[in-house]
Amino acid sequence: MSDKPRKPINVRRAEVMQQVQSEVGEYQSALVDSIRSNGNVIDLPHMQIRLAAEFGFCDGVRRAIEIAHATCRVFAGKRIWLIGEIIHNPDVNHRLDAMGLRRLPWRLDAPEYAALTPEDVVIIPAFGVSVAMRRFLDEKGVQLVDTTCGNVVKVWHRVRNYASRGITSIIHGKFNHEESLATASHSRGDDGKGNFLVIFSKQDARVVADYIRGCGDKGAFLERFRVCSSAGFDPDVHLLEIGMANQTTMLKNETAEIQGILRDAVVARDGSPDRFHAFDTICGATQDRQNALYELLENEPDVMFIVGGYNSSNTTHLAQIASEKVPTYFVRDASCLLDTRQVRAFRLRTREEMLMPLPAIASDTSQLWRVGITAGASCPANVIEQVIRRLAELRGCPLP
Ligand code: SF4
Repeated sequence: MSDKPRKPINVRRAEVMQQVQSEVGEYQSALVDSIRSNGNVIDLPHMQIRLAAEFGFCDGVRRAIEIAHATCRVFAGKRIWLIGEIIHNPDVNHRLDAMGLRRLPWRLDAPEYAALTPEDVVIIPAFGVSVAMRRFLDEKGVQLVDTTCGNVVKVWHRVRNYASRGITSIIHGKFNHEESLATASHSRGDDGKGNFLVIFSKQDARVVADYIRGCGDKGAFLERFRVCSSAGFDPDVHLLEIGMANQTTMLKNETAEIQGILRDAVVARDGSPDRFHAFDTICGATQDRQNALYELLENEPDVMFIVGGYNSSNTTHLAQIASEKVPTYFVRDASCLLDTRQVRAFRLRTREEMLMPLPAIASDTSQLWRVGITAGASCPANVIEQVIRRLAELRGCPLP
């Protein structure tokens, strides 16, 4: 174990980035750029494809990918490890695997961690890592390359601030998502005594609200939140003053509703909202993509295709928004588009990829088929281009 952590290193040096630009340029798309400059619409015979005004790579994802590529150049010949996935997109992660990056699992008790030496380079993904994992890696003396997005770090500051004031963090997020795990660890604060509860849904929020109002069952409460609360969590004590934060990629409307449910409960108990604190930590990129999708849906497309990794939180929320309005197909890439009758798509309710029928209009070229497309912040433009090309091909109007 090392006495003090190695200094972080800047791998995005000018001479390195020149080389990296050509590699990451493969994620771009001239076709997508030209559709963007044409008002986000492409008119084809019997088909109109409309893209959302905002979709695909955000700045945080672009930066993380560039850093990963630069790390491979700066540390060529060394063992370079990536904790989990750099972002949640299979195409991007496969490319990094092909460049020789090795994967470290998210569990610190995995044998790979014990075998790390100061000669190893470890990349922290855009979601960040837990306090314990960071401490372990620092103590191991490995060369860390940190791609944690600044928007995630802002959430950590918020929950650490809550902890320093004795306020319990209520984190709206998926408990098993890397970012929420990291945020929960930071909500313990500097002294490790802070408390947290991760809630995923409005149903979870209503259970917490009932307890705050004094009508919950303590045993049932503890059982429900056993794996997603801080050790020793006591709802009688730790719900007295609460502060909200959320995973940066959650659904904005849902987060607002959850905040309302919990605020109302605190007011009902205390007669004032003084012991309720809220801070919207959904990042701008997530909000922009959700807002742009709402705008696109106002054009009433016949179907929506949502493109991206099935484990991507912000992409999943786009699929959720669209599916409430029009038939929606959450596809990983163009290979999911089998023909004009069916696609392989991810079903949100059962969380599995399955064959789903397309509406009859998809194979009826006597009618104009209006297709909407968007993609999460982790989806590269070249994957979106392949989806557009495949749709045009299936419709009998292949693009040059
Ligand atoms: S989606 Fe938001 S939090 Fe995540 S990498 Fe992009 S900008 Fe950062």
